[in-house]
Amino acid sequence: MVSFTEARSIILDSVQPVGTERIHLLEATGRVLAEDATAPWDLPLWDNSAMDGYAVRAEDCLTTPCRLRVTGFLPAGVRADGIKVEPGCAVRIMTGAPAPAGCDAIVPVEETDDGTQDVTLLEPVKKGQHFRFRAEDVAAGVVFVRSGALIRPPEVNMLAGFGMALVPVFRRPTVAILSTGDELVELGQSPGPGEIINSNTLSLAAAVQEAGGIPRIIGIARDNRESHLEKLREGLKADVLITSAGVSAGDCDLVRDILEELGAKQLFWKVGIKPGGPTAFALHGLTPVFSLPGNPVSTMITFEEFVRPALLRMQGYQRVLRPLFKAVLREGLKKKPGKVQIVRLRLEKEGGRWYASSAGNQQTAILRTMVDAQAIAVLPAESHGSVVGDEVDVHFYGNHIEME
Ligand code: AMP
Ligand code: MG
Repeated sequence: MVSFTEARSIILDSVQPVGTERIHLLEATGRVLAEDATAPWDLPLWDNSAMDGYAVRAEDCLTTPCRLRVTGFLPAGVRADGIKVEPGCAVRIMTGAPAPAGCDAIVPVEETDDGTQDVTLLEPVKKGQHFRFRAEDVAAGVVFVRSGALIRPPEVNMLAGFGMALVPVFRRPTVAILSTGDELVELGQSPGPGEIINSNTLSLAAAVQEAGGIPRIIGIARDNRESHLEKLREGLKADVLITSAGVSAGDCDLVRDILEELGAKQLFWKVGIKPGGPTAFALHGLTPVFSLPGNPVSTMITFEEFVRPALLRMQGYQRVLRPLFKAVLREGLKKKPGKVQIVRLRLEKEGGRWYASSAGNQQTAILRTMVDAQAIAVLPAESHGSVVGDEVDVHFYGNHIEME
């Protein structure tokens, strides 16, 4: 048996990004940039105006009010070639228009009489005011988004602004999902006596998608060697294989043996975590294979704690673990020392502190508590349980929780 922390480091040490691809910027949000992006030109490319107003020479405007002759007009989108601000003169200019030669300040129209032949400036003028200088944002040759950065709308804006329609990103891994068990029927069929619907395949596919992977549903391996051989072989063609059930010590638990027969090298079996104890992890060549327990709550928890970080790492994410924060318990949590315990929680924020209470019955067969959970407490192995008022480490559960 390995500890929770050991299991995680074995997994994260065994996986690496699956490769890169170039995709259109429109598809790139949420992906991770795979090469440094270097500015091909200065941003902005020329000095320009930050306001609608008048381009002036600050030295002509030492008195207030001050009167200048208007000698030109520069809207955005035109070239400023051949236009110059002569002593005692101003050029009417719009936001974003290139600054004409000679000027060193922009006077907003609101601080003038809005004149067209002549203009009166009503406020003092400072050199450089409302002026956007060439390259003040990014200079040509500078890396403006690093390899490994998550692409969000601001990164998209800059990449687009530099004309980069195709961007190099880490590929999304294909993730084979295989359920095992004679009791399973597929969604759409009615379960007979002793049968249950293969719900794990669906929730694993959902979790894989949420983590950025591409699910490949392999179906059900029946509790016999031939069926396991056939389905596991198929699953091993993906970048990652996840199996559910058949990994405990039962008579029909064949997953680990058949994986070994197919050449997978088991790196651990059984983790000091509750729920999720029977989890196994193997490598088939470079392909990580996660064998998760079949109990739906255990399957989801072990995906969350072990598979999700691996899938993120394979897509180039730098931060793959959800941040832990402290929550004050509104009720005690029973626990025996020995294993890390995962507790499903509801959270509330009060006076700047998070307060947690149990999301319901914590038995592993109770699915409903998983539905109600907003967060998960990770109680350390050595803990003897916690009482009301204790602080525990928690992380959010789910990608779309906004609880501020
Ligand atoms: P096992 O690991 O095969 O002993 O399965 C543990 C528990 O999880 C049993 O109650 C199974 O019926 C249940 N289970 C196994 N596979 C699935 C599945 N694909 N969907 C839903 N429940 C499952
Ligand atoms: Mg089974």
